[in-house]
Amino acid sequence: MSKIGFTTTVPVEIILAAGKIPVDLNNIFIGHDNPQSLVDVAEEVGYPRNTCGWIKGLYAVSIQDDLEAIVAVMQGDCSNTQALMETLQLKNIKLVPFAFPFDRNKNLLKIQMQTLIDFFNVDLSYVERIREELIPVRKLLHKLDEMTWKDNKVSGFENHYYLVSSSDFNGDVKKYNEDLNDFLETAKNRDPFKEKIRLAFMGVPPIITDLYQVLESLGARVVFNEVQRQFSMPFTASDIYDQYIQYTYPYGAFARLEDILPELEKRKIDGVIHYTQTFCFRQIEDIIYRENIKVPFITIEGDKPGKMDGRTRMRLEAFINMLK
Ligand code: SF4
Repeated sequence: MSKIGFTTTVPVEIILAAGKIPVDLNNIFIGHDNPQSLVDVAEEVGYPRNTCGWIKGLYAVSIQDDLEAIVAVMQGDCSNTQALMETLQLKNIKLVPFAFPFDRNKNLLKIQMQTLIDFFNVDLSYVERIREELIPVRKLLHKLDEMTWKDNKVSGFENHYYLVSSSDFNGDVKKYNEDLNDFLETAKNRDPFKEKIRLAFMGVPPIITDLYQVLESLGARVVFNEVQRQFSMPFTASDIYDQYIQYTYPYGAFARLEDILPELEKRKIDGVIHYTQTFCFRQIEDIIYRENIKVPFITIEGDKPGKMDGRTRMRLEAFINMLK
């Protein structure tokens, strides 16, 4: 089976319906043994130093991995994707543009999804069947999330890992489902975590590789991974279109706040970490979140892949101590 890359969560059901292996390029980048070496590859061909590390990692993964095509999300994700795609065109990589409509218009989303359905030459009814087949694994992910914030038996990193991987199910839905099932069986029999401080993590997935471990060493635990949870589609949907309209991440800060605010309350969150990526346009949205979120709030920034720097660690330590 050939592999189809994508730059952020897309309707994976269409790729699976076509009998292809879905590959979230972000997960390949950050899961690499040496992700900084991928950033270096992009800089060597001329990607500027002041460009986001994720984009550089995605570029390197795209040229190194054996992909049949890449679905490029041109709207609803990253302002750098167009230039990323243009540099991949130079390498003769087949690209399929996709856009989430900014105004969350269902008819426009249908047109975009039809483009993907046509490209992969699949039937909508079969896509819908795949969507229904994925419901049990998505329910397991919702269970994992509940075991994080309600039962306190899942760590912030474990929650992050499984939810972030649900964009492509690590390329193998059956194996992913089995691994997740095994994990939940093990976690069920644990003693609950006892950290005093309950944190929310908002923003794009962190490029800092030990963030969750550092927070737990400081006596706090992330019990809400906002964007990662959205990747798992944590709601009931009437059809494939409804599913990707309810999904909040591509539709801007206000759509995301509709999900974030009730979850902060439900999960009894003591403090919010807003993670921003160096050189990312999303840093500007920090203004909107700060104005709307009434829970203690800290913004941190990550640049290169790797362990947390000393300054960020000190700021988080002071933040958590303040919450205690
Ligand atoms: S972190 Fe921001 S700039 Fe970087 S890839 Fe994601 S959306 Fe784009």
